[in-house]
Amino acid sequence: MFYAAAAMRTDATKWVFEGVEEVELIIVQPPSVKRWVTTVERIKAFEADLKAAVTRALKPDAPLAAGDHCKWCAAKPVCPVMTGAVDRLLATKLDALPVDQIAHYLDQVSLVEEFISGLRALAEQMLTEGKPVGDWKLVPKRATRQWANAEEAHEWIVHNRPKGSDIDPYELKQKSPAAIEKEFKKHKIELPADLVVAVSTGNTLAPGNDPRPAVLQIGHTLKKAMAKIQ
Ligand code: SF4
Repeated sequence: MFYAAAAMRTDATKWVFEGVEEVELIIVQPPSVKRWVTTVERIKAFEADLKAAVTRALKPDAPLAAGDHCKWCAAKPVCPVMTGAVDRLLATKLDALPVDQIAHYLDQVSLVEEFISGLRALAEQMLTEGKPVGDWKLVPKRATRQWANAEEAHEWIVHNRPKGSDIDPYELKQKSPAAIEKEFKKHKIELPADLVVAVSTGNTLAPGNDPRPAVLQIGHTLKKAMAKIQ
């Protein structure tokens, strides 16, 4: 309805709506195609509702309404509904929780989980931009072993697989180095060390006392250095 309302106001497209009563809205999001027939009046009513909602939302005392939509909201880490629910949960003693309140607290769980993931995302973004977040830091995620060069690994396996082994080099892509290594070890053959590399899949948030060293934000450090030079 937002798109239809926008199209009704856009010079290049508003002629489509002249003299018509019905509007067919289609969302094409392969593989799904959804169609809905409504009226120009309904779109106009939606536009009025939307305007009123935006006006309300822009007021300093705008009402806060938590729900599924919170997962899209960038304000989660500072939203009073979220922080209030977290504070209440933290202040709750589980062993003193009245039985009739358990369902009520369970209802808050997804809200609090949304808050935590929003808070982590915010902290990670700040640290990536070189902004301090207490003594928290970004560290590399646990590295996973991968083929350094899939073609070279394939060639090595073809030439070195023992006779009668179950190793199929054409399944290399589906098999991890660990799985292939296990097969070779059964025949007392070691994989050459340079065939495999340990690659971290990204960074993760860790408290200051985590033994892993913080990752160097090279991009950010370089940017700061360049700014000093210029
Ligand atoms: S997190 Fe807070 S501000 Fe954001 S949509 Fe939910 S209730 Fe509204």
